Amino acid sequence: MNAVNFGHTAHGAMPLVNGLSVDVEDWFQVGAFEDVIERDQWSGLDDRVDRNVRQILDLFDAAAARATFFTLGWVAQRHGPLLLEIARRGHEIASHGWDHQRVFRMNPASFAADIARTRKVLEDASGTSVIGYRAPSFSIDARTPWAHQVLAEEGYSYSSSVAPVVHDHYGWPEASRFAFKPVEGSNFIELPVTTAIFRGKRLAAGGGGFFRVLPYAFSRWAIRQVNRTDRRPAVFYFHPWEIDPGQPRVAGAPLRSRLRHYTNLERMSGKLEHLVRDFHWGRMDGVAKRENLRLRLERAVQG
Ligand SMILES: [Zn+2]
Repeated sequence: MNAVNFGHTAHGAMPLVNGLSVDVEDWFQVGAFEDVIERDQWSGLDDRVDRNVRQILDLFDAAAARATFFTLGWVAQRHGPLLLEIARRGHEIASHGWDHQRVFRMNPASFAADIARTRKVLEDASGTSVIGYRAPSFSIDARTPWAHQVLAEEGYSYSSSVAPVVHDHYGWPEASRFAFKPVEGSNFIELPVTTAIFRGKRLAAGGGGFFRVLPYAFSRWAIRQVNRTDRRPAVFYFHPWEIDPGQPRVAGAPLRSRLRHYTNLERMSGKLEHLVRDFHWGRMDGVAKRENLRLRLERAVQG
């Protein structure tokens, strides 16, 4: 392969800046509970996202890490001061859709309306411009070949909405593991969530339940593999409710969902402290920019 050693200098390798992200939704908005908690019940439930996000902001500040907060429009509408605070501390505000509707349950028109409405509320609340999008539950896959095009048309510059793995709730196993340009003739870029290769198989290694359930050493190994072997930035994500052991328990949800949701919540903050110190982390808009440049250079070299 004719890869460009972008970031490699005569003095040795410059450290890659990985993409750090938080999907800003509350404990009752997760995909795993959507059959148990209706959307019209949300307003009456214990609102915990504000204090959890503020704790995360302090954790990031302690390690001088910057990140992207993919936020639901529903949350932004109710927490204007929180969005201002996230932006004031140097982080990026981006979109996680209005109310966590999966993209493959929408059509191009309803998807366009969802991301336009969300973007407006996020920009009004934060005073920043929104160029990034993450699909709820990584729901851009083979069923939604129109989604990236609609995002580009609605003024978004990048997406981080593809999980290129086999998983029971999501995944697009045929997709590229690294940044790709899904829209012909456009600079729009997709930054898939990180996977690692173990014995020839792709493993999800970019956060979520895997990060909480498995020992931290697994994630450290996976991110090192991506940085050192593949020489690519990792893309990592987690949720505010994952650092909140005191959240209400959802009794009616399937056992499998409950096990996944509640395991090791009390250990999450400690793991995150290691993670943010062990690697270089930055905002996803910066990753998008550098990956765009790298793809352009590679294309130029290949002619
Ligand atoms: Zn989400």
